[in-house]
Amino acid sequence: MKRLTRFFPLRPRVILAALVGWFTIELQAADPPPARTAPFRAMDLDLNETQEVELADRTRVRVKLLTVDETRDTMRDAVRQARVNVEVNGKSLVLTSATYHLPVRFAGVQIDCPITKGYIGNSSEGNAWGLLKDARLRLWPAGSPLIDPGTFVYPLKQRWFASHTQMANEPTFVDGGEVPGAKKIYYHYGLDSGGAEGLVDVMAAAAGRVISAGKEILPGYDNSPAKPRYDVIYLLDDLGWYHRYSHLQTIDPAVRPGASISLRQKIGVLGKEGGSGGWSHLHYDITSRQPSGLWGIQEGYGFLWEAYKREYAPKIIAVARPHHFVVTGEKVVLDGSKSWSASGKIARYDWTFTDGKTSNRPAVERTYSESGEYSEILKVTDSRGEVDYDFAVVLVIDKTAPDRLPPTIHPAFAPTLNIRAGDPVTFKVRSFRTTVGNETWDFGDGSEKVTVKSDGNVNSLAKDGYAVTQHGFARPGHYLVRVERTNEHGQRAIAHLHVPVEAESSGAAK
Ligand SMILES: [Zn+2]
Repeated sequence: MKRLTRFFPLRPRVILAALVGWFTIELQAADPPPARTAPFRAMDLDLNETQEVELADRTRVRVKLLTVDETRDTMRDAVRQARVNVEVNGKSLVLTSATYHLPVRFAGVQIDCPITKGYIGNSSEGNAWGLLKDARLRLWPAGSPLIDPGTFVYPLKQRWFASHTQMANEPTFVDGGEVPGAKKIYYHYGLDSGGAEGLVDVMAAAAGRVISAGKEILPGYDNSPAKPRYDVIYLLDDLGWYHRYSHLQTIDPAVRPGASISLRQKIGVLGKEGGSGGWSHLHYDITSRQPSGLWGIQEGYGFLWEAYKREYAPKIIAVARPHHFVVTGEKVVLDGSKSWSASGKIARYDWTFTDGKTSNRPAVERTYSESGEYSEILKVTDSRGEVDYDFAVVLVIDKTAPDRLPPTIHPAFAPTLNIRAGDPVTFKVRSFRTTVGNETWDFGDGSEKVTVKSDGNVNSLAKDGYAVTQHGFARPGHYLVRVERTNEHGQRAIAHLHVPVEAESSGAAK
């Protein structure tokens, strides 16, 4: 026995060494070892599995996955919330996976859960995350940034949450994609930021080499995560991460395969090209090697959040996302508790609902008696009196007629930053799932309502698919702009935009 145990380990080791050598050569062809490492460590765990990892600051952390609890909706069986119970250095913690949740500080580290296994079973995009176990966790040292300063920026010249988003594994919905009975779910692992088509610059979130731009790809990268398309750019950074920018209306001429792109360099303009579904947005995602050895999505919501805060120094951010998908009469919880203030605490939550009711609780339970797309207003105020707004989108399907789908609606505006009283602002809107009716804008400043008509997304790539109008605000303030459209069944889609307007320039400003 003893001889066997001493002899046996030798042979697998020889085989393994040969395999590793062969693999290394294979990988290096198009997958050179990264010059830098990210400030976090990822681990994939099965239930009851324990792993120990050394963080970037040399502290060792022991993590055990205790439970995974996934909540699914009644119509599509889509995972809407996944909660994991983990033990970190012997202490128990419950984390909510992705869906606009940031890493939390706990037991001397920061930790998040970017993905759990339940998402993969009915994903329309297969195992985009490269997860083979029950859950993935990421760990940072307690005081570490989520992504290294000076290496990552917010990739849009646009205010945070200026339009609809689809992020961090919420099912896609803006283009009318949430349909009862559609059982394959596009969990949006990428970061979709809505914006006004043709009016928003897209910048490189990280410096890198262009692997593909439009249909052209750098030789040697055919088997890499880069999948060229006319409206798409892939950049490879020094972490070994592939950054994808998609649906671009135009790609900057400097972005050619092999070119080096610097941090924050303009690479294109936001559009609705390719497989956008017809709504204008930047699709941005990151693919990297995962603990499984597979390529997979690197959840990037926290990176965007941190980069935006660094660059724009917002005092307060309201968060009422992700959206919800329910039938009439079904309970839904709208939750604003992910909102944030630089002064440390949200002092007040004010919800205003479509039916005129209000609530002061961070999280509030609601039911709806009529189908439609609702946009419920969340106002948050901090102890210094700073104010921000966000909107909870609630898609309600008629329980007695689930095939009679309400329209959905997507508004956007530009510019979104540094708007001054009197400035012209461009508003664009497109509706989905209806060609009947018009869009009606209420700019929230007492001015007359404006009626326009978008094409209803009949041809998703139509250049004039969005209806366009302009409006100026005479006085500074926070404006809640509302736009809606009603179809032949009286089903209504409503959306809001928050437009902050500053005092008119004195002319003496820099
Ligand atoms: Zn997308």
